[in-house]
Amino acid sequence: MSYNVTLIPGDGIGPEVTEATRRVLDATGIEFNWEVKNAGGEELERSGSLLPEGTLESVRRNKVAIKGPITTPIGKGFRSINVALRQSLDLYSCVRPCKFYKGVNSRYDSVDLVFVRENMEDLYAGVEYRENQPETKRLITEMKKDFGSKLRDDMALSIKTASAYGTRRIVKYAFDYARDNNRRKVTVVHKANIMKFTDGLFLDTAREIAKEYPDIEFSEVIVDAITMHLVQYPEDYDVLVLPNLYGDILSDLGAGLIGGPGMAPGGNIGDEFAVFEATHGSAPQIAGQNIANPLAMILSGLMMLRHLREFDAAKRLEKAIAAVIEEGNKVTIDMKHDRNAHDAVGTQEAADAIIGKLQLL
Ligand code: NAD
Repeated sequence: MSYNVTLIPGDGIGPEVTEATRRVLDATGIEFNWEVKNAGGEELERSGSLLPEGTLESVRRNKVAIKGPITTPIGKGFRSINVALRQSLDLYSCVRPCKFYKGVNSRYDSVDLVFVRENMEDLYAGVEYRENQPETKRLITEMKKDFGSKLRDDMALSIKTASAYGTRRIVKYAFDYARDNNRRKVTVVHKANIMKFTDGLFLDTAREIAKEYPDIEFSEVIVDAITMHLVQYPEDYDVLVLPNLYGDILSDLGAGLIGGPGMAPGGNIGDEFAVFEATHGSAPQIAGQNIANPLAMILSGLMMLRHLREFDAAKRLEKAIAAVIEEGNKVTIDMKHDRNAHDAVGTQEAADAIIGKLQLL
């Protein structure tokens, strides 16, 4: 059986790490037909479109994509293509496993967490109003009727959203994920003591849905408390389900526990489509130098194999990755204990080492 998969190289280090990943996935013996499609700032210059319809169409047709990071300008310029892609394809779950592999340079040695981040709502829904614009002033005037003078006229607004529909499906996804992957516990992360309606809805929904999964332990923690606790006792947690913003931030903390951005994979998954991508960004400072760690992207490819139910290939790939990390002599500079190490290898050579191991399995 062969799979048609859309490959979006992205920009910055994206093309390097996606190329390494494509080669590794081809070496698993599974047959892929890669349909290469573009998106982002460079694509805007090339074709006049940030997210060409052809790219979306390809993912809709193939149902599965693997994507490199795409740069988003800060504060001004275009909105995030990553957010647009997730919203256009209704990829409502962002799954970010943070698993420690022996040999990784980390302060911890037994972390195995899965962050399930809501991907469509919250402060990332894109409901924003720039300060001093007519539409912003109109809204502030309306809101003053309920909230009075604590609303200043020169405010900018980003609206935090949570729907019953969106909350139900992400929490259900987290519990189903736990059940399908033999995980013991789901923890809901919230700040419902302050944001009583949005996070309150998230928490109440989680409590309700937890009753449908008596085989999975359930716990609830306030976001600031868990941030501290995760650093002290990461072993206390298993699957975490979080609103969008907390999920974005805490999954980066998770990446920090298991060796940094080069080690943290991810998948954006909806009922119909799935796009796999590393947690890290486009790292423009190190782009084009063949020094970026391809492992986060390759581990995202491993998640894709599991999504395609190619469990045997996924198992072999994970073994090959684990062996290369444990041996430690064919890894990129960020994996070295000594940051000035001279024996680090490049992005493509690290991928070659994994391919070499795969050929022995
Ligand atoms: P970043 O993840 O690109 O970089 C943070 C740090 O981690 C940098 O020091 C970088 O060199 C390092 N790093 C990241 N990936 C690495 C790898 N594979 N190997 C070795 N080191 C690595 O985060 P940032 O600097 O905040 O963002 C840069 C750009 O990426 C921004 O425009 C941001 O919007 C975008 N971004 C895109 C995505 C995405 O496409 N999904 C995700 C996050 C950030």
